[in-house]
Amino acid sequence: MSLTNRILLAMVAGIVLGSLLEGFMGVIDPEGGVYAFIKNGLILGVFDVLGRVFIASLKLLVVPLVMVSLICGMSSLGTSSRMGSIAGRTIALYLFTTGVAVSLGLTAALLIGPGKGVEAMTSAAFEAKIPPPLTDTLVNIFPSNPFKAMAEGQMLQVIVFALLVGFALTRAGEAGERLANWFRDMEVIVMKMVGILIELAPYGVFALLTKLFATMGFGTIVDLAAYFFTLLGVLLFHGLVVYSSMLRTLTGLSPRILLQKMRRVWAFAFSTASSGATLPITLRTVEKRLGVSKSVAGFSIPLGATINMDGTAIMQGVATVFIAQVYGIDLTAGQLLMVVLTATLASIGTAAVPGVGLITLALVLQQAGLPVEGVALIIGVDRFLDMVRTMVNVTGDATVATIVAHREGQLDHQIYGDPEADHDGDVEEAPPAGASV
Ligand code: ASP
Repeated sequence: MSLTNRILLAMVAGIVLGSLLEGFMGVIDPEGGVYAFIKNGLILGVFDVLGRVFIASLKLLVVPLVMVSLICGMSSLGTSSRMGSIAGRTIALYLFTTGVAVSLGLTAALLIGPGKGVEAMTSAAFEAKIPPPLTDTLVNIFPSNPFKAMAEGQMLQVIVFALLVGFALTRAGEAGERLANWFRDMEVIVMKMVGILIELAPYGVFALLTKLFATMGFGTIVDLAAYFFTLLGVLLFHGLVVYSSMLRTLTGLSPRILLQKMRRVWAFAFSTASSGATLPITLRTVEKRLGVSKSVAGFSIPLGATINMDGTAIMQGVATVFIAQVYGIDLTAGQLLMVVLTATLASIGTAAVPGVGLITLALVLQQAGLPVEGVALIIGVDRFLDMVRTMVNVTGDATVATIVAHREGQLDHQIYGDPEADHDGDVEEAPPAGASV
């Protein structure tokens, strides 16, 4: 069985086992030994520990991977000034897709009205954090200490530092060439580590999903069914239809191939609910299976994982309308525009980790003058939706990277069209030293 199918099978097995455990624990004595064994021994012991180790191993690769792939990408562009155009196109498309995403969320929610007739549970409490001023956010993109940036996983700072190193390296003559070679070797090694991790994915994914579904109550979904399904519908529409139409219109490429090749990335995004932790897999897939060049992939994917969150923006659009409806507030055109603007900006500021979308939602509500404590209404169903919107977030990154690569002449069409390209994540082996060629 192919690795992708094994990962998908592990997903299903994890969901089924987790749900069974949850159901079983609901009917047995919570004071008994069997309950304690399942809860503390299996769920919080084996599965939680395995899942956390898996996520830590993914995160471990993020900083080295972003550094080496950006530096290699810059060095492969040489002294040509394509980086400015790549960066401009990427950022413009990220902002555009996020704007479309939040508008879709708003429109669908206004048409369907998921919050009509829902009672506000006023006991719900949610404390909004005060966001830092925009000027600080901008200044913070520029690192003052590269090691601190890497140690803290400040992705935008790491990207800026790597771009600087890559830029200087292409202009440093022989010394630059030597160092570029070193980084190219490093890239092969880090990619190999990603490949090894992908091999272990069925176990990691199984452990993560078993623990999640064993502890995630679905009871609240019934109360919030209209919100849940409206959001799910828009997420699926955006992830499958909007991106595909964009890809088809702007490049003429077959979207089916892209979606097919994204399945493995989706499994990671769904089970970790973090586009940050999924980054190594997204980057590898985009480069090796979709054929996007190192320079475009190395820039667009880490940047996208940090600033491009279309799924999160959709959630914010739907949630804002839902909360306004529950509180009986009619949104004015000005408020709607404010939501589009702040949700687009907020998606830039949303960290690529589970559940952060909810915190930035508070910011959006605040800007639109809506009750921030409304966030508490949707917390109960957020985890599952977070998993799905993370899948949309990573699909957006991969689609934009492919479009930019195509427009810049940086897409290998042969790799894109080959369904077997880099199949199952094996790094192509170099011939053994001394082998006659
Ligand atoms: N979990 C999402 C991500 O990492 C962010 C969010 O919407 O909470 O992409």
